[in-house]
Amino acid sequence: MAYRVKTPSILSKVLYRNLVWKIPVGDTPAVYLTFDDGPHPTATPFVLDQLKEYNAKATFFCIGKNVVEHQDIYQRILKEGHRVGNHTQNHVNGWHTKKNKYITDVNEAEKHINSNLFRPPYGRITRGQISALTQRDKPYKIIMWDVLSGDFDTTINGQKCLDNVLSAVEPGSIIVFHDSQKAWDRMSYALPKVLAFCTEQKWQLKALTTT
Ligand SMILES: [Zn+2]
Repeated sequence: MAYRVKTPSILSKVLYRNLVWKIPVGDTPAVYLTFDDGPHPTATPFVLDQLKEYNAKATFFCIGKNVVEHQDIYQRILKEGHRVGNHTQNHVNGWHTKKNKYITDVNEAEKHINSNLFRPPYGRITRGQISALTQRDKPYKIIMWDVLSGDFDTTINGQKCLDNVLSAVEPGSIIVFHDSQKAWDRMSYALPKVLAFCTEQKWQLKALTTT
């Protein structure tokens, strides 16, 4: 499977500068955990319990149809002080979807997810789609990442997933995990250890800001 754990700077600094890849480091170093594809009936509650244990906040990029199906878990995410973002209604791939259809899917998810944060499924989005989402009445802030855990990669184990994160994380990092069935084995192994590591480094674990 072809993917990069650490986002190459040619993407973040040259080609797609108007997307958010990393957060500038302030007085207190912080990292930003993100969870894509939920809410999921077992993975999401597990993540929420872990976050609570470490007094951590995070951002959940939810799929609209999963929010409809697991409304109670979606409400729990909000109630516990985390932030949510739009990850489309049906997890559509921007490279294989015409602009109008893509925007319609985002708008459908918007009925269920109240947020100005957006993350494109698979990280795949065209320039036209970016323009449509960022240049409108209520513009979206498009959130990418600089650290990909690889928890979706069924060819690696939890330890490799953990190593991926620990080798790349630094203050300001936006880290991608998944609260999904597919990622469960690796995410459930790596997440508690990543939380422990960041806490030991005295890095705050914060939700992304909407401004
Ligand atoms: Zn996704």
